[in-house]
Amino acid sequence: MTEDIVVVPGDGIGQEVVPAAVEVLEALDGVDFEFTEYDAGDETLAETGEALPEETYEAAASADATLFGAAGESAADVILPLREAVDSFANVRPARAYPGVDALRPETDLVFVRENTEGVYSGIESEIADGVTTLTRVVTEDASRRIAEFGFDYAEQNGYEDVTIAHKANVMRVTDGAFLDACEAVGDERGADYDDALMDALAMHLLLRPEEYGVVIAPNLAGDVLSDLAAGLVGGLGLLPSANVGSERGLFEPVHGSAPDIAGQGIANPCATVLSAAMMLDHLGYGEAAADVRDAVEGVLAEGPHTPDLGGDASTEDVTAAIVERL
Ligand code: ATP
Ligand code: MG
Repeated sequence: MTEDIVVVPGDGIGQEVVPAAVEVLEALDGVDFEFTEYDAGDETLAETGEALPEETYEAAASADATLFGAAGESAADVILPLREAVDSFANVRPARAYPGVDALRPETDLVFVRENTEGVYSGIESEIADGVTTLTRVVTEDASRRIAEFGFDYAEQNGYEDVTIAHKANVMRVTDGAFLDACEAVGDERGADYDDALMDALAMHLLLRPEEYGVVIAPNLAGDVLSDLAAGLVGGLGLLPSANVGSERGLFEPVHGSAPDIAGQGIANPCATVLSAAMMLDHLGYGEAAADVRDAVEGVLAEGPHTPDLGGDASTEDVTAAIVERL
């Protein structure tokens, strides 16, 4: 069956790392993908007046999956609607240290399962008087249960023994209280082993003893912050993939942004996007191909070549070719 894949490189290094990931996908046997490229981001905004053209939104909303690169200043106007287009409620961000890459904590193997639709990112902000602003935080039992179910499933399917629910229910008693209650109810119904942790203390523990954690289920903002912290544990943004999933469709993107400081130089690390493509393969049911891509990336990380962010002097193309070669 041909899978219809929407490709949105976007801005900056998105234009370099997304084609690299497509090249890797095209090198796979037994996977029949049809790629169609669409525009979004700052340049599109400058040219058309819209950061996310209707055409791109509609394409993502009807494709089997979307592979996205990055958007610069317009990121929020691109990525939030795109996540909505694919009807995603779970943002999955693995943070793993790889042999061959300098990591602050080489024993790190974490997966953040972040609630993607509500919390303090619900977008309900106002300036109620001059110099006075407010934010309304929405937490529903349904969305909290849904992310907990997803997180516990993910842990089970991917062999993670530790599940931790991140929250700040001692301060945000009503909203995070509801999140925690819903997650605990799901865990208890399943007879699963889990812990909960206050997100601030968890930030410190992740830094000191990441090996004690596996899957971390978190509300939107906490998941965003903690997963970036974990990025620092494993050697930087160039290695971190993510998936926006939950429904039939999915949106797959590197955690990093458009990196204007290195854009156009051909030295961006393609691994985060290639690993995002591997998550896409998993989502589409090509588990074996996904594992092959991960193995190829791990091989290149272990033995080189490496882009400058990992201390090497290889180009995006060199690294991509080395990954393809291993496939
Ligand atoms: P944006 O506003 O689009 O997020 P940014 O300036 O925050 O852009 P990021 O993409 O978030 O940039 O990157 C932060 C830093 O990490 C930059 O110095 C960038 O060069 C580096 N970086 C990010 N991704 C990569 C990558 N794939 N390869 C190499 N370096 C990267
Ligand atoms: Mg950034």
